[in-house]
Amino acid sequence: MFATLSDRITDSFKNLKGKGRLTDADIDTTIGEIRRALLDADVALPAVRAFTSQVREKARGAELSAALNPGQQIIKIVNDELIQILGGSTRELHFAKSGPTVIMLAGLQGAGKTTLAGKLGKWLREAGHTPLLVASDLQRPNAVMQLQVIGEQAGVPVWAPEPGNGVGNPVEVARSGLATAKSRLHDVVIVDTAGRLGVDEEMMQQAIDIRDAVNPDEILFVLDAMIGQDAVHTAEAFRDGVGFTGVVLSKLDGDARGGAALSVRTVTGVPVLFASTGEKLGDFERFHADRMASRILD
Ligand code: GDP
Repeated sequence: MFATLSDRITDSFKNLKGKGRLTDADIDTTIGEIRRALLDADVALPAVRAFTSQVREKARGAELSAALNPGQQIIKIVNDELIQILGGSTRELHFAKSGPTVIMLAGLQGAGKTTLAGKLGKWLREAGHTPLLVASDLQRPNAVMQLQVIGEQAGVPVWAPEPGNGVGNPVEVARSGLATAKSRLHDVVIVDTAGRLGVDEEMMQQAIDIRDAVNPDEILFVLDAMIGQDAVHTAEAFRDGVGFTGVVLSKLDGDARGGAALSVRTVTGVPVLFASTGEKLGDFERFHADRMASRILD
């Protein structure tokens, strides 16, 4: 295991005990440690650069606190800065002013979209909404059935292609799902879409076509927190392709240090709204910037 970022910062100040204030040299030593620790936590280089330069600036301008030693002072600056970049308080989902709110899920295959559809559906149902799940992932042979099983567990109905319902055409399934939601008075529609193992043009075009057919209020980009450095490239490809309004980090129950959260937020500027923390439908929560900051720091 790597030493934690807090440990490294504390360590880099070991020989500076009794010093009352932060010098530029102290700051530089510590910045080096922070940089290495962030790279170990799988934060992408552009995000590391942006972050360390912010911390350097804050540390230079910091009012010296009598209560904290220099190491603690830097740890506080790093923590505050992490929370701020990760988005401070969590943004709420945007709901449509009239008609059903359409939430489209996008992301690579295996990112956790189908599972998320069930989690989000259950979460919304428990909050008093009447969601409908729409199975527009027709790429994976089992995806439709997987969504039907998950929908049943979540207590949320699923709109899936059946003969005459647009079999084989995910855009038609999305369109007819939305029409069904309107006629059956569902107030939220969650559209599951296909992913591939890597980003490819055909997949992105399909996501764009579905987007244009249902005009989503939210496009949630589901990102596997375990993919580390690749998070940035994947996020950029989806931002430039179908686009997204919010991020859901999945598989945060694994031992990923949370670098993906910092990377995706820095590079795209789009907030993380939810965290997925396991395979069960209840393993799901609003994203908390402060908890993620301590995961990266500790
Ligand atoms: P999709 O291809 O994006 O629809 O991904 P799935 O929803 O099918 O998820 C892929 C695999 O990851 C499945 O085996 C899920 O059970 C699992 N999974 C999804 N979310 C999480 C999570 O938050 N934690 C863990 N440990 N597994 C997850």
